[in-house]
Amino acid sequence: MATPNSATENLDPDEIQKFDALAERWWDPNGDFRPLHQINPLRLNWIESKVPVVNKNVLDVGCGGGILTEGLAQRGAAQVTGIDMATKALNVAKKHIESSQWQVQYTESTAEQWREEHAEQYDVVTCLEMLEHVPDPAGTIAACTDLVKPGGDVFFSTINRNPKSFLFAIVGAEHILKLLPKGTHQYEYFIRPSELASWARTAGLEERDIIGLTYNPITKRYKLKPDVQVNYIMHFKKPQVTQSTNTNTEPNNTEPNNREPNA
Ligand code: SAH
Repeated sequence: MATPNSATENLDPDEIQKFDALAERWWDPNGDFRPLHQINPLRLNWIESKVPVVNKNVLDVGCGGGILTEGLAQRGAAQVTGIDMATKALNVAKKHIESSQWQVQYTESTAEQWREEHAEQYDVVTCLEMLEHVPDPAGTIAACTDLVKPGGDVFFSTINRNPKSFLFAIVGAEHILKLLPKGTHQYEYFIRPSELASWARTAGLEERDIIGLTYNPITKRYKLKPDVQVNYIMHFKKPQVTQSTNTNTEPNNTEPNNREPNA
């Protein structure tokens, strides 16, 4: 088992522990992870409306027990890799995929560690419901950006930070409706879409779209809606040519100091 060093890693051991403690219940559709099971087809459909994953090389960061990861494999991705730091959740993910006809490579890693050997290897990177559990979400976003190929797609989902999200995502979901175990979320870790967008821009991503995921306590169903006040998903693209690269590709450029060979 890895011994996370929170002083040097972008990781909160208490958060990892929470997910490990619940690991055995990951695949119970009516258990502690019921909300993830319910939103899974919706978020997969939204992702696929932006970029079909068939034949793509996909990385799922913070994959947990593999609910989204398996869905990506089922939808025809050529290769799917899931990384997470919760050992027990990963073991559950590995066991679950073994009993299926799909294939996923699961490894214990943070996005930052994985970037060291897998930079620009993925057509699509997903990092859903994870940023609100890390101490430095901007660092995770930068690592995900480095992991995707130029021209590739990155998806993040998390919870907005405002009085309504406190009421719905913590008081409502954890204490009144008991959709999630108490203590699943910490309000101060929630992220406004403007914050996420600005970290992504700094990392070099272009914002493409945003959608809300809303829960109706009467019908007990989630829906994709434009309302992003509580749960939301964002889609970004990594430009073909990153900003740090010289974009001056005009063949007839006569500016002094251009880097045309033998000019
Ligand atoms: N993305 C999955 C699971 C979300 S639960 C889904 O949406 O279905 C959040 C997951 O993030 C947990 O499995 C937790 O262990 C993981 N996590 C939290 N911090 C992490 C970190 N720094 N590196 C990798 N995984 C992390």
